[in-house]
Amino acid sequence: MASFQMQQVLRAVRPSIRAFSTTPTKSASAFPNGFNFELNETQKEFQDVARKFSREEILPVAADYDKTGEYPWPVIKKAWELGLTNTHIPEHCGGLNQGVFDGCLIAEEFAYGCSGVATALEATGLGQTPVILSGTKEQQKKYLGRLIEEPLVAAYAVTEPSAGSDVNGLKTRAEKKGDEYIINGQKMWITGGGVANWYFVLARTNPDPKAPAAKAFTGFIVDRDTPGVTPGRKEINMGQRASDTRGITFEDVRVPKENVLVGEGAGFKIAMGTFDKTRPPVASSATGVAQRCLDEAAKYALERKTFGTALFNHQAVAFMLADMAIAVETARLAWMKSAWEVDNGKRNSYAAAIAKCYAADIANKCATDAVQIFGGNGFNSDYPVEKLMRDAKIYQIYEGTSQIQRIIISRHLMDHFKNAS
Ligand SMILES: Cc1cc2nc3c(=O)[nH]c(=O)nc-3n(C[C@H](O)[C@H](O)[C@H](O)COP(=O)(O)OP(=O)(O)OC[C@H]3O[C@@H](n4cnc5c(N)ncnc54)[C@H](O)[C@@H]3O)c2cc1C
Repeated sequence: MASFQMQQVLRAVRPSIRAFSTTPTKSASAFPNGFNFELNETQKEFQDVARKFSREEILPVAADYDKTGEYPWPVIKKAWELGLTNTHIPEHCGGLNQGVFDGCLIAEEFAYGCSGVATALEATGLGQTPVILSGTKEQQKKYLGRLIEEPLVAAYAVTEPSAGSDVNGLKTRAEKKGDEYIINGQKMWITGGGVANWYFVLARTNPDPKAPAAKAFTGFIVDRDTPGVTPGRKEINMGQRASDTRGITFEDVRVPKENVLVGEGAGFKIAMGTFDKTRPPVASSATGVAQRCLDEAAKYALERKTFGTALFNHQAVAFMLADMAIAVETARLAWMKSAWEVDNGKRNSYAAAIAKCYAADIANKCATDAVQIFGGNGFNSDYPVEKLMRDAKIYQIYEGTSQIQRIIISRHLMDHFKNAS
C-alpha cells in the first residue's frame, strides 16, 4: 500500500492516539477510565502491519546486512512508503502526530526481525525528537516536513570522542558571529552519521568551563551538506552492523541563527529531555530482541534431542526458557508503562530509565541463554542466536549506559526518600 493511502487508513482508524486504549471492550468496560491491557484498533493495526513487515522484509535480509554492513536503504524506503516511520511527526508537517506508545509497538516488531535494521529505522526519531519537542513551527515544517516528503533520515549528534556519559565534558564549540554560529569540533558514534540529511548538534556556546551544563550548551539543526561537515568512515561494530555509526568533524561550519533550538543555553535540557521520549522505544526494541531469543531457543529445544528426548524435556533447559518468558513479559510491561506515562503528559524519566535498563539487561541475558540452549550451534554464525547476542550488547551502552540509568533511578529514589523523611 502506498504511503499516502496507508496514512489515510491509519488516520481514519485513529480515534485518540494519545490514549493507552480508547476502544471499549468487554473486558475493559469494568474499568472505563482505569487500567487496561487492551490495545485499541489502531494500535492493533499498526502492530500487525509492523509484524508482517518485519517478518517479510527485515528478518530474511538480516544476516546479509550483518555480513556486508551495508546501510539498509531498500528496507528503509519500504517502511517509509508504508507509513511505518516518522509516525510521531506533527500533523502540520504532514505526519500522524502519534504517541510514543504506538511507536514502541512498531519498534519492538522491527527489532524482532533485526535490531541493526531497527536501529537504522529508529535512530532518525532520536534526531527528530529535539525538533519535535522544541522547534518552532517553521523549523519543524522545514526539517520534519522534508522527512515526510522523501525517505530521508535525521541523526542526533551529541557524543564526542572524549565525552559520552559525561555530556558536560563536550568540547565542540559554537561561536556567534553576526547572524550565524560557527561550529568547530568532533562528534563520535553518531547513528546515521553518514546517511542523515540533517543533524541535531549539541555544542558549547559558553566557553567558561565553570558554566552550569543547563546554560552552557546550545542545540542546532545542521544540514548535512553544509560546508565543513565531514562524516568519517563507517565504524565496524560488534553487532547491529546494518546501522551506520560514524564520527563527524565540524570545521568552521556556518549555521544561521534561525537553526538554533529555543535559544542560546537551552541545548542541554533539550538533549536530555529527548531521552524521555526515545528511551521507551529503545526498551521496546530490546524487548523485541529478547522475544526473538526466546522464540528461537524454544523452537530449537523442541527439535534438538539429547539423551533420547527433546531438550525442552530437560528441566534445566525448560526453566531457562521460563526465565526468558518472565523477562520478556516484564520488560514489555516496563516499556509500556514508560511510554504510557509520557503520552499522558506525566514525567517519565524514572520509568523510562527502568524500562531501558531492564530491557537492555534482559535482552543480553536472553541472548546468552539462547546461545547456551543451542550449544555448539549457538556459537556459530549459521544459526541466528550468535548475531542476537552480538546485537543485544549495544542496548546496555547507547542512549545512556546501564550504569547511567541506575544513576537516574537511584537519584530519583534518593529525592523521593529525602522528601518523605
Ligand atoms: C553503536 C553506537 C551508536 C551510538 N549512537 C549515538 C548517537 O546516535 N548519538 C550520540 O550522540 N551518541 C551515540 N552513541 C554514543 C553512546 O551514547 C555513548 O557511547 C554512551 O553514552 C557511553 O559513552 P562513552 O562511550 O563515552 O562511555 P564512557 O562515558 O566513557 O563510559 C565508559 C564506562 O564507564 C561507565 N561510567 C561512566 N560514568 C560513570 C559513572 N558516573 N558512574 C558509573 N559508571 C560510569 C559507563 O557506564 C561505561 O560502562 C552511540 C554509541 C554506539 C557504540
